Amino acid sequence: MIHFVGAGPGDPELLTVKGQKLLQSAGCIIYAGSLVNPALLALAKDGCSICNSAEMTLEQVLSAMEAAEKTGEDTVRLHTGDPCIYGAIREQMDALEKRGIAYDVTPGVSSFCGAAAAVRAEYTLPGISQTVILTRMEGRTPVPERERLADLAQHGASMVLFLSAGMLKEVQEALLQGAYTEETPAALVYKATWPEEKVVRCTVGTLPACGKAAGITKTALVLVGQFLGEHGERSRLYDPNFTTGYRKGDSK
Ligand code: SAH
Repeated sequence: MIHFVGAGPGDPELLTVKGQKLLQSAGCIIYAGSLVNPALLALAKDGCSICNSAEMTLEQVLSAMEAAEKTGEDTVRLHTGDPCIYGAIREQMDALEKRGIAYDVTPGVSSFCGAAAAVRAEYTLPGISQTVILTRMEGRTPVPERERLADLAQHGASMVLFLSAGMLKEVQEALLQGAYTEETPAALVYKATWPEEKVVRCTVGTLPACGKAAGITKTALVLVGQFLGEHGERSRLYDPNFTTGYRKGDSK
């Protein structure tokens, strides 16, 4: 059986308990290159075959999985963060289905959660934003026309940009075509939850210069939105006047 497992954002202690058990019992581990903390590979049992998918094609990944299946061993396909975000797992799952190979998915802590922890922020602040846009700047790989960053920026929602730290000037231009201004708070979070984690707080106006000064071009997320600045209103959920399914409020 093939187990897709989320490795978490970097700190090995952010692997799930289920992911840990699967890594310990796998006969084959195929991990997604440098974004997976090598400390996790130390969980592998003796004799486990370990491959770095950064050096492999999809076909080679599938061959390695098939070879492990033939020996009756389980394979862990270890993806950074959570596999459902830019993990390229759909194509692997489709190919496994075609071959009649069973698989399951164990989620992980995505880097956008690790980055929020690093900056001690909440994306969904009452009165500020109740929406998080997870996206990326168009680069060598296109994004659908209707999801152009300048269009998504019209909402002014809390935004997290993956795979875009090397294109901060283009990111800035697109954001400014939307609802964000030069003053909108932003942050660059490099290697969230790793020992070398770096947080650079800036604004949309200073984003490219701050990224350059910090030497950050990859393995980073760009966070944008008022959630990084203002504190907004307090939540209804814990308001003494507000009645919920579990607690009766003071007011009628
Ligand atoms: N599935 C992953 C994302 C893979 S795409 C997840 O859920 O996090 C790879 C991109 O994710 C990187 O280019 C970077 O933008 C971001 N990323 C992954 N790990 C990161 C980390 N620890 N800190 C900051 N950004 C990270």
